[in-house]
Amino acid sequence: MLLGGIEAGGTKFVCGIGDENGRVLERISFPTKEPGETLAHVEAFFKEKKIDALGVGSFGPVDLNPSSPTYGSITSTPKLAWRDFPLLKELKKRLSLPIGFDTDVNAAALGEREWGAGRGLDSLLYMTVGTGIGVGAVVEGKLLHGLVHPEMGHMQVRRLPEDSFPGNCPYHGDCLEGMAAGPALEKRWGKKGPELSEVDRVWEWEAYYLGAAIANLILILSPKRIILGGGVMKETRLFPMIRERTRFILNGYVASPALESIDHYIVPPGLGDNAGLCGAFALAKAAQA
Ligand code: ZN
Repeated sequence: MLLGGIEAGGTKFVCGIGDENGRVLERISFPTKEPGETLAHVEAFFKEKKIDALGVGSFGPVDLNPSSPTYGSITSTPKLAWRDFPLLKELKKRLSLPIGFDTDVNAAALGEREWGAGRGLDSLLYMTVGTGIGVGAVVEGKLLHGLVHPEMGHMQVRRLPEDSFPGNCPYHGDCLEGMAAGPALEKRWGKKGPELSEVDRVWEWEAYYLGAAIANLILILSPKRIILGGGVMKETRLFPMIRERTRFILNGYVASPALESIDHYIVPPGLGDNAGLCGAFALAKAAQA
């Protein structure tokens, strides 16, 4: 079976071909332009590939209600050219294939559950910390949607008393994303993450916010594993700092052996940078079945 996958991001699109075992056979990426130009690029890539189905993990917010007339549309994004754009409808028109559709982070959570660091688990979270912060969730074996879909990256977190940065989320100011995503780091410290590698305080503060959010998520959803990906997590020394912060906040209240061996509980993606793309293959496989 040949499967197509699209990781539709606000800054770049990743398109790929894979098989039913999550193997990536071909992969390209290109910057996200306005919708017409971007989809022409997508169509050109997939046109001759003879794939059986396509999966799409999209940036959002998106409409995931299959009975809604705007199912598969991007909704209230600050990227104006994409606001209310019917992504799924447009792809169906151009490619006429079975298409599975979900958020980018739900796709990554699914990919990690099928073939990555969450293999075999019926409950896990995938959090990306990059240009934004998003969290995908598998709960009781299923991707979590609910009213719209969760937007856990925008939760409120307690402010570090010495941090005077106002936050830069256009909707909430100092929500988690506004305080801890890549652009917030750059704005607060005046340099991009990789140039701040040597500055301990940057990563201590980052771990403070991410640890707080992860402790909240453990208390709310009780996931069996938490996978952290995205550009900011390339600074791998964050992992032990976040684990420590999370345990400090929970303070022994959540009793589980998983939290005793927290190195195997809060982990990097098993699929590396292909979590989203492989998750899109898993969505394609489900759409085809
Ligand atoms: Zn926000």
